[in-house]
Amino acid sequence: MRHFPIFLDLRDRPVLLLGAGEALEAKAALLASAGARPRHAARFTPGLLEGIALACAAGAPEEDLRALSEACRARGIPVNVVDRPELCGFITPAIVDRDPITIAIGSGGAAPVLARMIRQRIEALLSPGLGRVAALAGRFQAALRARLPDLAARRRFLDGVLTGTPAALAEAGREAEAEAAFHAALAAAEVAPPGMVHLVGAGPGAADLLTLRALRLLGEADVVVHDRLVAPEVLAMARRDARRIDVGKAVGHHSIPQPEINALLIRLAREGLRVVRLKGGDPFVFGRGGEEKEALEAAGVACAVVPGITAALACAAGAGLPLTHRDCARSLLLLTGHTREGRLEVDFASLTRPGQTIAVYMGLATMPALFEGFVAAGGSPSWPAALVEAGGTARQRVLRGPFSEVVRQARGWITEGPALLILGEACARTAA
Ligand code: SAH
Repeated sequence: MRHFPIFLDLRDRPVLLLGAGEALEAKAALLASAGARPRHAARFTPGLLEGIALACAAGAPEEDLRALSEACRARGIPVNVVDRPELCGFITPAIVDRDPITIAIGSGGAAPVLARMIRQRIEALLSPGLGRVAALAGRFQAALRARLPDLAARRRFLDGVLTGTPAALAEAGREAEAEAAFHAALAAAEVAPPGMVHLVGAGPGAADLLTLRALRLLGEADVVVHDRLVAPEVLAMARRDARRIDVGKAVGHHSIPQPEINALLIRLAREGLRVVRLKGGDPFVFGRGGEEKEALEAAGVACAVVPGITAALACAAGAGLPLTHRDCARSLLLLTGHTREGRLEVDFASLTRPGQTIAVYMGLATMPALFEGFVAAGGSPSWPAALVEAGGTARQRVLRGPFSEVVRQARGWITEGPALLILGEACARTAA
């Protein structure tokens, strides 16, 4: 982050506006709307800074702009010189104003046009009455704290109210009815509703391949329990103050044993927390989601599953190879290359059947054994194959070729992983 975002309280504080012109007038108007008291000056003298909370300049002589910038920095006064980033102690963001909700969008000065575009999008998303909804919640703040001392309970309550009738009424400008509805909801609020666990698929690792539901739950979670496979950019979508617990493997270490993860989820939910159990891809595809769901249900903890884009889908889309195709792939097999006691538990004969696509998860280490078994069962060494690393993410790489070649090159080719092996004629349908 090049600049640190904050919201300044400038009510009744004097601010200096040095220079002249339209840009400066715009700043003056903005500052006045925040309750600041603008003092105008055409030329700079150090005495002007006495008692000043903030300074803006534009359209003044060059030496004055420089002197102002230097003097402000020496005194720790935030200073902005329009279109002169090198003279600025702060820059002004693009603003979406739904007072008391204020959204500030910055681009570190690098792409103000982009920041304005983003502002337009957000403007379109937010109803003009949003400010009234926020103000309504603000008026009930004290009552809310008294009725629901627990923060998690308060959040849950507000989530409901702010998307429900009281908010709709406030937005429509029907303030008295909105207050009555808020009152009624508060009186009926459960003091400590039980917690819940959502088993959420995080997809292949790109934040924009999360489902909208996953995104919403991440934004509401009190705690996120995640695997090693979950990408940082996905975790960044969680509520900023949500607790994050990594139960995945660190390199060379074993992951926390499954029973301990189950116990942790149960404990957190019983504390009344909204728990998101975040898993790479889909929770029910080689993700042990089934085991966790059973444990939660046995403990009487409410649980729901949110599907995610599993690696096979992300890798196929990313590599441009269809998993089914009317000409050559009429079924799809999701297979694990994981071994139990060192043995691949695979029916090799079934793998050599034509007309199917096979996606092998966790298959990197056991790929040579898989190849041997495949060929021994009558499969062709030159069967079309593709190895996809970090499919669906910015790091994605694809190695295509005959199965024998892919096996031979895999170890030297792979970088950080994870990787998925895809076998079948569909791999040969598209150009490399
Ligand atoms: N639940 C996950 C799979 C977990 S098993 C899902 O539905 O995708 C872990 C294996 O998934 C890895 O060994 C690798 O084979 C595969 N995998 C997960 N993410 C991947 C990605 N982005 N690219 C390629 N393979 C991936």
